[in-house]
Amino acid sequence: MTMAKTTKKTPQKTSTKSVKAKPESHAADVSASVKQILENVRPTPMIHNGLTNEEKIERITEKFTDIMNTLGLDLKDDSLRETPKRVAKMYVNEVFGGLDPKKFPKMTVIDNKMNYDQMIVVQSIGCLSFCEHHFLPIDGFATVAYIPNKKVIGLSKINRIVQYFSRRPQVQERLTKQIADCLQYILDTEHIAVHINAKHYCVMMRGIEDTSSTTSTSDLRGHFKSRMETREEFLEHCRTKY
Ligand SMILES: [Zn+2]
Repeated sequence: MTMAKTTKKTPQKTSTKSVKAKPESHAADVSASVKQILENVRPTPMIHNGLTNEEKIERITEKFTDIMNTLGLDLKDDSLRETPKRVAKMYVNEVFGGLDPKKFPKMTVIDNKMNYDQMIVVQSIGCLSFCEHHFLPIDGFATVAYIPNKKVIGLSKINRIVQYFSRRPQVQERLTKQIADCLQYILDTEHIAVHINAKHYCVMMRGIEDTSSTTSTSDLRGHFKSRMETREEFLEHCRTKY
């Protein structure tokens, strides 16, 4: 099954400069299969403001200029001049790219003709996200496993799913569950396990200022939840570092 992107675009006149009442980028340009996947993943709290990515970059540049001016930084300085635009582009195109369904990775699953019936584990997946409470990085590793039913997925696709949902303002609990929801739907198996261990820069740089503690979250489903030996085997993979 290939979730191909559609190239169908809704033609838009650009005569009005104000925010247009068009469907949010969510609805336009996104293939039916991606929409269906995302409808089966618990949502990030969002409003559909109808802004294009270009409009978002323009607005964030203005607002970030205000923030820097308010902090008393001299935006005429050649090192600081481009920072608001740089931050705006980074938010929209990179670190929060996972808010844009058009950036959902292409998913390919294949039939499990080999009848593989043991767990498949991808461990030590680099997992960089942003805490939605402080807008500071979350830096950790994810370990993801599943026991296939009728389908298996290309291994790098699991890394891409972790990356897509990481590129949102997050709490680690929701990130863990969104990855599990997504895989459960795509692979059509309830036997899914996701574990994340991460450092939160908002814990390290402010507040308690603890630079060594880490946070672990997990979502164990199906056999990973109910069968002690499957659970133990998975958690052993989480403890082993390569
Ligand atoms: Zn935080």
